[in-house]
Amino acid sequence: ELTTQVFNNLEKDWESNAVLTLAKAESLEMAKKLDQNFEDDNLLYGVPYLAKDNFSTKGIRTTSSSKILDKYRPVFDATVIEKLNKVSTVMVGKTALDELGMGGTGLHSAYGKIFNPRDSKRLVGGSSSGSAYVVAKGYVPFATGTDTGDSIRKPASYNAVVGFKPTYGAISRYGVLPYAPSLDTVGFFTRNVDDMAILAEASFGYDKKDFTSIDVNYQNFLKNIDNLPSTTKFGFIKEVHQALDDNMQKEYNQFYEKLKQQGYEVQEISFREDLLEALAPVYMMISFSEAVSTNANLDGINFGAREVGKDFNEIMTRTRSKNFGEVVKRRFIIGALNLRRQNQIEFLLKAKQVRRLIVEEISNIFAKLDILIIPPAPGPAPLIEAAQEFDQHNSPIKEYLDDILIVANFAGLPSITIPFIEIEGMPVGINLTAQVAEDLKVLQAAKTCE
Ligand code: GLN
Repeated sequence: ELTTQVFNNLEKDWESNAVLTLAKAESLEMAKKLDQNFEDDNLLYGVPYLAKDNFSTKGIRTTSSSKILDKYRPVFDATVIEKLNKVSTVMVGKTALDELGMGGTGLHSAYGKIFNPRDSKRLVGGSSSGSAYVVAKGYVPFATGTDTGDSIRKPASYNAVVGFKPTYGAISRYGVLPYAPSLDTVGFFTRNVDDMAILAEASFGYDKKDFTSIDVNYQNFLKNIDNLPSTTKFGFIKEVHQALDDNMQKEYNQFYEKLKQQGYEVQEISFREDLLEALAPVYMMISFSEAVSTNANLDGINFGAREVGKDFNEIMTRTRSKNFGEVVKRRFIIGALNLRRQNQIEFLLKAKQVRRLIVEEISNIFAKLDILIIPPAPGPAPLIEAAQEFDQHNSPIKEYLDDILIVANFAGLPSITIPFIEIEGMPVGINLTAQVAEDLKVLQAAKTCE
């Protein structure tokens, strides 16, 4: 009944473009099987969810919202899907994203634009757009996402849901279609922090199929969720705080005060401003270059769509020209340019060196505090007409305000966005980030601030 109810809701809202594929036969069969015996002690038993369409799902269409993968059906499940199957959740379908994970708006799925569920004149955010949408609408209690720069944590802010990017490697990336593998992280959207703790327990763990996988302790997340140590030190970045508008600064100041009243220390720390300004350019250099390499298999020859041509060069050129969207092509061109031998030395290597400096700056910060408080966005979801692409923006505000979440990807940090305030009826989230492998602490802090 529950599974059927989910399908009814999703079908009624099909025009939203948030969902690409329903796994009706598969999930109803699974639900029926689960009906026969109930596991009292399994909190996830029979819980329906949707997966972002860059997670491989066995026998179920997986497009990553790209025409080039229009008819692709993987022959295996991503490790995390397998793990969620094992705990008897029910994967009911796949959600739309900005093509191949490249973007932050929801306007760049090859299967139609997705808008903010509260106000269709505004962005839903992305790239995990459909996943944020279906959880915000309450269709399912959770959905999977991926986060390379901010793709879970920023849409969470725009949609009043919880969005968690765990420590890099804590959840296996095996079977997840890559954008930029040195940054890509698997995570979730939920309605509350407890649910996130339950999912972390179910999905964390070393996987030998992913060579960047690591074992982050994930025992008893839920059991310990209310035990944030009273000695926990919070902090915020002065330069980022000062770049916020007056109203946001006021809200944040009140938040810091509240934490202090609860007995926590809240420190103001400084972050080298030149490094803050380097966040976006360095991210673009590294992620666009990695994207060229990891998506080289989408060539119209091995698998995916294929256009007709007289030789492999022509097949490849025609297939890629016709089937990739504008944003993806632009990023591939810039990435390919970076990958030319001379440019690697002159530009890409330098970008990597600056990434290292940023990571060092973050390590220095975490020598002084446990939880860094970050504004996941400068304000509520922008109006679509004012929206700009990540790689095209040219705004008068301190740009790093829009990009600050990337620090967590550069350094592999666990980072969670939870609902915070509303401005003119639109939600704005708050983000909490901790040192590598402190996933429990970040969840505990989020529970305290929820
Ligand atoms: N919005 C960022 C971008 O456009 C991040 C994308 C992501 O995390 N997948 O690249």
